[in-house]
Amino acid sequence: MFIIEKSKRITDLPPYLFARIDQIKAEQIAKGVDVIDLTIGDPDLPTPEGIIEQMKKSLANAKNHRYPPYAGILSLRQAVAEWYQDRFQVKLNPETEVLILIGSKEGIAHIPLAFIDSGDYGLVPDPGYPVYKTSIIFAGGTPHIMPLLKQNHFIPDLSQIPKEIAQKSKLIFLNYPNNPTSAVGKEDFFKDAINYGRGNNIMVLHDAAYSEVYFDDYKPMSFLQVEGAKEVGIEFHSFSKTFNMTGWRLGFAVGNAEIIEGLGKIKTNIDSGIFQAVQEAGIAALKDNLHVSETLRKIYQERRDILCSGLKKIGLDLEPPAATFYIWAEIPRGYTSMEYTTHLLNQTGVLATPGNGFGSFGEGFIRFSLTEATERIKEAVDRLKKAAF
Ligand SMILES: *Cc1c(COP(=O)(O)O)cnc(C)c1O
Repeated sequence: MFIIEKSKRITDLPPYLFARIDQIKAEQIAKGVDVIDLTIGDPDLPTPEGIIEQMKKSLANAKNHRYPPYAGILSLRQAVAEWYQDRFQVKLNPETEVLILIGSKEGIAHIPLAFIDSGDYGLVPDPGYPVYKTSIIFAGGTPHIMPLLKQNHFIPDLSQIPKEIAQKSKLIFLNYPNNPTSAVGKEDFFKDAINYGRGNNIMVLHDAAYSEVYFDDYKPMSFLQVEGAKEVGIEFHSFSKTFNMTGWRLGFAVGNAEIIEGLGKIKTNIDSGIFQAVQEAGIAALKDNLHVSETLRKIYQERRDILCSGLKKIGLDLEPPAATFYIWAEIPRGYTSMEYTTHLLNQTGVLATPGNGFGSFGEGFIRFSLTEATERIKEAVDRLKKAAF
């Protein structure tokens, strides 16, 4: 008999909670329930017209049909550097400090391969984007969890990391504005992270996928704006959430040239870059960024206000987010996250993500996403009001 034996890398993966969510959703749909799905971290609106127009032009250009340069076309790296200068007043060398990625997830997934050996640790937030943890495991390292607690505004307490773990750690993943908690990063914390990284020889990898999804008078800063950041770290960005371009697969990493070079070395041996037409569309997106992201922010802000008021009415304890398109709410006592999610779905047909799907410190919370049509969010709120909680 032929036996297909999977690697430990695969079999050791933690159980995928989201498969269970898909199952309870399918059960409700089979019963004829009109499920309003607020679990998805993927913008519902189309990519803006100007970006699509550029893509059409670039698609017709035969020079774009060949292998692209590994680090990304220089004109896109230059556009990234210009955007950083305009948006954050951070200077970047497009030749050495900018690397184009197949979406930021790809860079996050690959970077531990460049720096982690077996026996090394990587520090990851919990709750958090699941890729941080798996990427360290895939590289043969060990993730060490940093709890994100409500009483600390979902900022990790670096002083709680044991000395012997810090000594063996090579990198730390941070993510502000944060998915799933929607917490925002403050300059003081970034300073602490830089000092911690410098003091312990731990590179700081900051995921800024939501830097352009912000509300009211709050505006996220870049990690690289803080003095010393470029000595110890890099920042990941994505076109996905900023420009409604999740399907295009385009992101970038910027910052410390040696870290960028390490990641580039891994990528050169794995992928062969991104279709140049997509990269040229990315230039169009960055050049027109103000117009595009301003429109998006208005839409999410309206949805946020509608949903937050509805959720408060059913007794959920939450803070309206200053950034990201997620609402992170504490669930009432007496339920686990999964029980509450199921209860909410059964009572109202509204589906959200149980917090423990993002790690054990997400237990006790539930995440609602604002990536459904405004009318559907209004409908969700009507149902919440009618349901007897
Ligand atoms: C969506 C998301 C990403 C991935 O974005 P891509 O560029 O589409 O790969 C990265 N980090 C966080 C926290 C996200 O929520």
